[in-house]
Amino acid sequence: MIFYPYVTIYPAVQRRLRSFEHRGVYVDWCDLSTVEAPSEEAYYWALAERWRRCAQAQEDLVIIEQDVLPSWKQYQSFLTCPLRYCGYHTWLGASYGAGLGANRFRWEVLDAYDIPTVIHDYADGSIPPRAWQRLDTRINDALATRGVALDCHGVMAHLHPYPIPDPLIRHIYVARYSSSRRSPLP
Ligand SMILES: [Zn+2]
Repeated sequence: MIFYPYVTIYPAVQRRLRSFEHRGVYVDWCDLSTVEAPSEEAYYWALAERWRRCAQAQEDLVIIEQDVLPSWKQYQSFLTCPLRYCGYHTWLGASYGAGLGANRFRWEVLDAYDIPTVIHDYADGSIPPRAWQRLDTRINDALATRGVALDCHGVMAHLHPYPIPDPLIRHIYVARYSSSRRSPLP
């Protein structure tokens, strides 16, 4: 299933995931403001619940964060790759890097490593345990130390409005406009 946790829904991502639903994919739309937890811990608790539920159901878990735009082909790559933990790098404002923007966990990983419990009390620097700001790096580090490194499938479009926008977004728009009869972007 695709887990889509959000504070603000990005319409382009919503349209894309709706199109996935029409192809039979189950999308778990999770409004983090409805999670009964302090707001900075809502993502942690929502993910921990899916982690355990998917492990129990022997179901793979895909995370798509609110502003990350997967193509159908990219989503399909999660289904076909035999590796246990896969993901895409996203633009982080100055470079591409790995987080939890678009990642797929095989259920065997969810079942073998109860990472939410492992990182439950992690605190590094000034970021408190279970805070969303370090959830991605804490999960990736905890998995990496257990020999589960992220298999990177490439880069995925990130719609977050950074001062320096994702070059991939511009590339997509330029490609779309140049393939239509409309004028290209300046
Ligand atoms: Zn892979």
